[in-house]
Amino acid sequence: MPTLTAPADAKVQLTEANKAFIKRANKLLIDGQWVPSASGKTFPTYNPATGEVITRCAEGDKEDINRAVAAARQAFEKGPWKDLTASERGRIVWKIGDLMLEHADELAELEAYDNGKTRGVARYVDVPLSADAFHYMAGWATKICGQTFPISVPYMPGSKFHAMSLREPVGVVGQIIPWNFPLLMAAWKLAPALAAGCTVVLKPAEQTPLTALRLGELMIEAGVPPGVVNIVTGYGETAGASLAAHDDVDKVAFTGSTEVGKLIVQAAAGNLKKVSLELGGKSPNVIFKDTADLETAINGAANAVFFNHGQCCVAGTRLFAEKAVFDQVVDGIASRAKKIKLGFGLDEDTQMGPLVSEEQLARVTGYLEAGKRDGAEFVTGGVRHGDRGYFVEPTIITNTKPHMSVVQEEIFGPVLVAEPFSDEEDLIRRANDTTYGLAAAVWTKDTARAHRIAKAYRAGTVWVNCYNVFDSALPFGGYKQSGWGREMSGEALALYTESKAVIVAL
Ligand code: NAP
Ligand code: MG
Repeated sequence: MPTLTAPADAKVQLTEANKAFIKRANKLLIDGQWVPSASGKTFPTYNPATGEVITRCAEGDKEDINRAVAAARQAFEKGPWKDLTASERGRIVWKIGDLMLEHADELAELEAYDNGKTRGVARYVDVPLSADAFHYMAGWATKICGQTFPISVPYMPGSKFHAMSLREPVGVVGQIIPWNFPLLMAAWKLAPALAAGCTVVLKPAEQTPLTALRLGELMIEAGVPPGVVNIVTGYGETAGASLAAHDDVDKVAFTGSTEVGKLIVQAAAGNLKKVSLELGGKSPNVIFKDTADLETAINGAANAVFFNHGQCCVAGTRLFAEKAVFDQVVDGIASRAKKIKLGFGLDEDTQMGPLVSEEQLARVTGYLEAGKRDGAEFVTGGVRHGDRGYFVEPTIITNTKPHMSVVQEEIFGPVLVAEPFSDEEDLIRRANDTTYGLAAAVWTKDTARAHRIAKAYRAGTVWVNCYNVFDSALPFGGYKQSGWGREMSGEALALYTESKAVIVAL
């Protein structure tokens, strides 16, 4: 059994800066002003380690979205944002990254408190990666270029032209983000949009609104002009749906469940706004017996599924281990799982925090019950931990059948399904046998095999002898029902720009 530090005894000792911030986190950011929701309504955000309310945030709705979109439209069309040089825009984006690093401890504390993740992960993964997204994209602001084209126009013999393309910002962008990496998802979306010269209305997840609001303050401090970034906290079915459907929004960027992703596509059909989607996953992680070091692969497989409590779209939740090493691999991951220290994310010795919400707890334990009913074998875990907060024991399931929901569906919790394999071709078929295609990994020291499998995977990211390696310079996104488009890297700019062909008769 993993040890549990009783969250009931957890002392919430926040920095003075965060105590003060939480008191003012009940407003929306619209047109550079912090304002209450039009309805005056608020909603609670919880500490998932205890279920206690942290504070209440403004519950934005259709009317607030309308105001935010109008502010974003105004800021897009009438200066000063559109009149800044690319270099000036880049410097503001860079400054946001600097301010995030300056406030790294405070942001990490706020993220851990609101989301449940550990302070260490928030401080050393979420915050630096988020700041890096702004620093990386700042450099792109001055490098968004069109091309020239040697056109021939065969039906106009003798005519001469200068033909080129301009890359222009797509316009007003709606961005809807999830709760698993709240600050990082805001950064992945905002940084390229700002670098490209767009204006934004951001809708954070209802479970984790706090760091996006703090980021809003830092963006104002960095010099982002009024209306360029608007932040409307509230519920998906109301604020989110209004944003996705809004006729004056040119593009919507969404990260979350595949189910809601499909609703976004439908909502966007009204004005055929551009859509990019980063959705779920059920990623295969394959260990061959020839892997260079089995212990490293076992650690990698444990990290692949248990990092961020399994609340990762790329989580390596389907483990395939070659028959000869299957038992050793499963035993190795199980012994690591049993030692994971569950507790309040803000306690220094906690290694895994609670799931984000009561709803997510019910969802994950629902899958665990289904797995038991279906006759799968639980090597370790399989139950809620404690009776306060939303903790689930790290779980490993074997002896599954392909049709079982624990095998098919994204659970989004610390739950691994492990299966043995013996034949490479059959393995590839099984690894790809999912509606998702976000990430995949393979552990082997056979270079040819590594390349062969990397090519065969139908997934947007493939890790070889590693897992969870992300970088702002790498494109990220999904095949199949894991999404449309690629975030991060230069490719993200394609999501936030339009290409305009200009032909000049000479
Ligand atoms: P979700 O509903 O897809 O939430 C993602 C975002 O979409 C949130 O901001 C949400 O707002 C908003 N939203 C919800 N319904 C909407 C609608 N009809 N129109 C516009 N926006 C809408 O995800 P969830 O319910 O929090 O989690 C459910 C499952 O999604 C998880 O168990 C997991 O499988 C998956 N998930 C995947 C990722 C990922 O990174 N791929 C991230 C999170 C969750 P509210 O939060 O305010 O409702
Ligand atoms: Mg919360």
